[in-house]
Amino acid sequence: MLGLAETSSNMQYNFSEEEKNILKFWEDKKIFQKLLKKNQGKKSWSFLDGPITANNPMGVHHAWGRTYKDVFQRYKAMRGFDQRFQNGFDCQGLWVEVEVEKELGFKNKKDIEEYGLEKFVKKCKERVEKYSKIQTKQSIRLGQWMDWDNSYYTMSEENNYSIWHFLKKCHQNNILYKGKDVVPWCPRCGTSISQHEILTEEYQELTHQSIFFKLPLLNLKKTFFLVWTTTPWTLPANVALAVHPDFSYVKVKDKEGNIFILLKSKLDIIPQGEIVEEIKGQELIGLEYQGLFDDFLAVKDGLKEYNHSVIGWGDVTEEDGTGIVHIAPGCGEEDFQLGKDFKLPVIDPTNEESRYKEGFGEISGKFVFEKETKDWIFENLKKRSFVFKIENYQHRYPTCWRCKSELIFRLVDEWYISMDSLRKPLEETARKINWIPSFGLERELDWLKNMKDWLISKKRYWGLALPIFECSKCGSFEVLGSKEELKERAVEGWSEFEGHSPHRPWVDEVKIKCLKCNSLLSRVPDVGNPWLDAGVVPFSTMKYFSDKDFWKKWFPADFICESFPGQFKNWFYSLLVLSEVLAGTKPFRTIFGYAMVVDAQGEEMHKSKGNAIWFDEAVEKIGADVMRWLYVRQNPFSNLRFGYEPATEVKRKLLILLNSYGFFETYKNPQENKEKLFEVRPQTLQMLDKWVISKLNGLIGKTTDFLDKYDSYKASLAIEDFFINDLSLWFIRRSRKRFQNPKNDKEKENVENVLYFILLTLTKLLAPMMPFLSEKMYQKLRSEKISESVHLSDWPQKDDKLIDEKLEEEMVWVRDIVNKVLAKRIEAGIKVRQPLRKLKIKNEKVKIVEDELLDLIREETNIKKIVFDDKIKGEVELDINIDERLKEEGEIREVIRHIQNLRKKEGLVPKNRIIIDCFFAQGTVPDIQNLLEKNRELILKETRANDIRFNSEERKFLDNENKLKIKGGEVALMIKIN
Ligand SMILES: [Zn+2]
Ligand SMILES: [Zn+2]
Repeated sequence: MLGLAETSSNMQYNFSEEEKNILKFWEDKKIFQKLLKKNQGKKSWSFLDGPITANNPMGVHHAWGRTYKDVFQRYKAMRGFDQRFQNGFDCQGLWVEVEVEKELGFKNKKDIEEYGLEKFVKKCKERVEKYSKIQTKQSIRLGQWMDWDNSYYTMSEENNYSIWHFLKKCHQNNILYKGKDVVPWCPRCGTSISQHEILTEEYQELTHQSIFFKLPLLNLKKTFFLVWTTTPWTLPANVALAVHPDFSYVKVKDKEGNIFILLKSKLDIIPQGEIVEEIKGQELIGLEYQGLFDDFLAVKDGLKEYNHSVIGWGDVTEEDGTGIVHIAPGCGEEDFQLGKDFKLPVIDPTNEESRYKEGFGEISGKFVFEKETKDWIFENLKKRSFVFKIENYQHRYPTCWRCKSELIFRLVDEWYISMDSLRKPLEETARKINWIPSFGLERELDWLKNMKDWLISKKRYWGLALPIFECSKCGSFEVLGSKEELKERAVEGWSEFEGHSPHRPWVDEVKIKCLKCNSLLSRVPDVGNPWLDAGVVPFSTMKYFSDKDFWKKWFPADFICESFPGQFKNWFYSLLVLSEVLAGTKPFRTIFGYAMVVDAQGEEMHKSKGNAIWFDEAVEKIGADVMRWLYVRQNPFSNLRFGYEPATEVKRKLLILLNSYGFFETYKNPQENKEKLFEVRPQTLQMLDKWVISKLNGLIGKTTDFLDKYDSYKASLAIEDFFINDLSLWFIRRSRKRFQNPKNDKEKENVENVLYFILLTLTKLLAPMMPFLSEKMYQKLRSEKISESVHLSDWPQKDDKLIDEKLEEEMVWVRDIVNKVLAKRIEAGIKVRQPLRKLKIKNEKVKIVEDELLDLIREETNIKKIVFDDKIKGEVELDINIDERLKEEGEIREVIRHIQNLRKKEGLVPKNRIIIDCFFAQGTVPDIQNLLEKNRELILKETRANDIRFNSEERKFLDNENKLKIKGGEVALMIKIN
């Protein structure tokens, strides 16, 4: 970009080191505590933190969301809102269990039971404590301001008992029930996986062996149904076949005279088959066939008097297979539903470890996914001539979100919250919420429409102990809603439990009496779905039970902010449900969602892939503010590509900002009294000053509007555009002379005031997004009369009186002309340092532009004279004739620039005066010396030199001397401090 080189020196700024100093400053001066105090009791703005899983150190993806949270909290604080600043840790559930299992080298649940539940649960707690501390430290390093000593933990008693209260209320409303259903089940974790937890990314592209098998019809010789499945382990549980009543099926005879029934459109499965008959699916319904494993005891027991038969099902498709679908109600969700509809028997083949139960012959006790098991099934079927063909098949198959094992579907007793009565109210509530981006609402509604009942139980150890006590004798169950109720009802085990958190195994000790039949009841061993833990936080953390006034002040939350993928089914959903049941209203007003962090190539980051970037590494390398600026200037609705290259690009932009501060530091009057509060006095302003102040006020307005709408993306880009294009590339660039060689002290003081005002305001606009850099710059500018920290400042107010739209428009025109002239110079190969005589501009309206603005063009393009001329072609015309005088002027400019570069290289500051020594190459002395002598005063003034000395002897130059070619000869220039 033109001119950039001039404003950016090779400034060094160690973000990471500076940030550590600022953290110390905040801590020493208790700035955050002062902020809380400043806003205490004022109008409140309620942020509710979605708890971070305290299970590992933070990755850079966590830092994205935490940056947003911090940006809006800091912004609202500067706007004077009272806030809670409460951070949350998610502590319970499979997340943590699986990591602890890994740590201990466990393979399955048996290992945990052998190790001991109490020890295991303690390990889980320890892990949470360890990582919540680490994450706290990391968040502080990111610059996130929270009331860290007051973080909430979902494993707290308060949180767990709040959910007890909720579940009791569900029971009172008759929406809590125990259901038998076929659900996704993880063989390794030994627990069901609720529909909410299976996200699209949990489906993997996998290849399995699929089998086409033939089932002989009863009462019809040599006739078979041709059926296909990708899950051979479910074959022993086959009960029925399903066909589509309206599809066309055919009976096809092969070369051996066997007749197969399949969809007409799937004829090519049987090469050279001959169609014997065409029939509608409808006519197949009710036909009976011989099963594959009818000799297994469990199958005999399951079927009893029932004969395998064909049912009609409208969901049969023509896509895969043969159009005749294998139905095993004990092994599939839809199968189970069909079983209920058609009153089919259920054969339930698997136990908790996904091994075949007793009664399945040689495969009893075998794991369903074991190769051996599958081989046995295939071999056995082959031997008995049931196999038509076996081939590989690639499909999308669900896996466990936690351990990535392939899931099975299994018949289990689980606890559910019925959703039918909640569906409508939840939809209405969702519509009352402000979703950013707006498609969030559609996604949530879509989920609410399609969700099944909420499966809330898990056959695991570390989690919410479901407060459900079931009576095996009379079949009733009770839900206890508080610790007090548990104590009151306890008839056994209270003393063993007392003093412990309401977790397994301690809470399992407590027994109560059945109210109906007086039997002794134990708690059901299940733990709860972890989204209950996070869903209850608007109640548990806002003192719903202990201080209703407090709760009313902070509920519903004004704002929540989480990564979108997944949360529609999880946190957003659970917040909605718990809030509907407990308060009958929305839990939050605005939700801001953002996409995902991926690597620089756009790939998802994974520890196992080796492309994950850990927070600690990134923050050390590039600094928190660079990360934060990278985050906020990203469109939140597209995935963020994180990498060190994009970070370097961002850093480059921030260095431009730093250079502007550096410029002010360098050229401001060193005698300036720090006590004095700079004030901009309108009567002293030049057009350029008025313009930059107008732009700044526009920027304040825009930034405020954007941040009010939670749009840090547009806000940051507006600020960046200002500090690069307006401030650095134009205002400072065009004001250099007033700083470096002012006409008088007054002129310098005036421009200094303007720049000070701009920079100080800018620190405040930047403070929520880049808390460190803004603090650093603020401290440099600070006088005693303003706040101790930029974060204790009030948010700047836009002053409409200072906005001059006409001037802004004219400046756009000025800069446009400049760019056109500079382009013409490049075209003609003439450097900007070479003055030119004349510029013609075509445009009637410009005649009303003030001279001061035309001066900006003249100075920026180094042209002596501007005239208006309507007869020229194009908008500008440049006189590129260079006579001897112009040429000499250009050469003097070259000399001055050369000396200034030397000054920079030597690290001199403006107050350093120098002496210039000139040495000449052979034969060129008189011409160059004459030129320099002639312009002596100008050179001395511009380079802050006291003298220029000419070395009379001619010499041969060394290669590394600072030579300059002018006047057809060579001169070497050297400087030293005087
Ligand atoms: Zn698993
Ligand atoms: Zn009972």
